[in-house]
Amino acid sequence: MAPFAHINNQFVPLDEAKISIRTNALHYGTGIFEGIRAYWNARRTQLFVFKMAEHYERLLRNCRVLRLRVGKDVKELCDITLELLRKNQHREDAYIRPLAYVSSEGLGPKLVGYETGFAIYTIPLGDYLDTSTGIKVGVSSWRRISDNSIPARCKVTGGYVNSALAKTEAIEQGFDEAIFLTQDGYVSEGSAENIFLIRGGTLITPDLSADILEGITRQVLMELSREELGLEVIERSVGRSELYLCDEAFLCGTGAQVSPIIEVDRRPLSNGKIGPLTAKIQQLYFQVVKAEHEKYQHWCTPVY
Ligand code: PMP
Repeated sequence: MAPFAHINNQFVPLDEAKISIRTNALHYGTGIFEGIRAYWNARRTQLFVFKMAEHYERLLRNCRVLRLRVGKDVKELCDITLELLRKNQHREDAYIRPLAYVSSEGLGPKLVGYETGFAIYTIPLGDYLDTSTGIKVGVSSWRRISDNSIPARCKVTGGYVNSALAKTEAIEQGFDEAIFLTQDGYVSEGSAENIFLIRGGTLITPDLSADILEGITRQVLMELSREELGLEVIERSVGRSELYLCDEAFLCGTGAQVSPIIEVDRRPLSNGKIGPLTAKIQQLYFQVVKAEHEKYQHWCTPVY
């Protein structure tokens, strides 16, 4: 069965969800997107979408920055997503990609006087980054875009040029992922992930002023670590050298899930193995997203 997409208020075969080469957003990066995961629970023969409403709340908030008008509320967006997943009959882990964009064909980068387009597609997706053996990261020579140039807090399509430059450099240098520093030289985040360090049993993560995306997984892990593991979690400025001095570190995100870091700039962390607290946090996260944790069932929406 050919997969479906949703574009401009209609479900159409994915192959037919096409846009003009004149589309403004294609040239100027004037779009806002989301990345949502759905997890297949084989035991319950059910697909669960994780934190779906939170993702659409963020999308609609972000759209205000780019003056985009999706014309649908969170409930309507969730209903469309569930219908699309049912049409696509996913029986494996899946990824959902909603995109709001300047669909007008006018020349010139601006955000007024243009139409908004909206589309969603879904694909099967396993690990985006390795979660089982740990990854090697390198501090990027590219600095994170600042809030006064392109707000990294928001998932602005054009902002991902910054990510693409850093990720490419990292791959070509033999790393799995890049770590951005802010313009001021503090630790920011990965190319598509937030970062946590662990020092003396305390979780430390850059605060929201470090030009990071307001990550949903970051928020989830802060809550789970405090509530379920009794860990202290601190949001503060993080110096580059702390990446080398910490006991453990991991990246997190909807795509990345919890991806343990075992090496930073060729310096091994936790003896080049997944750290014990990271392993605990990762295990808890997978339990929660797969709707196997009683207390957090309400974060998971069944599709079928
Ligand atoms: N930072 C960036 C730059 C990202 O692209 C992502 C992925 N959406 C994240 C962090 C993690 O955000 P979330 O947990 O909301 O997926």
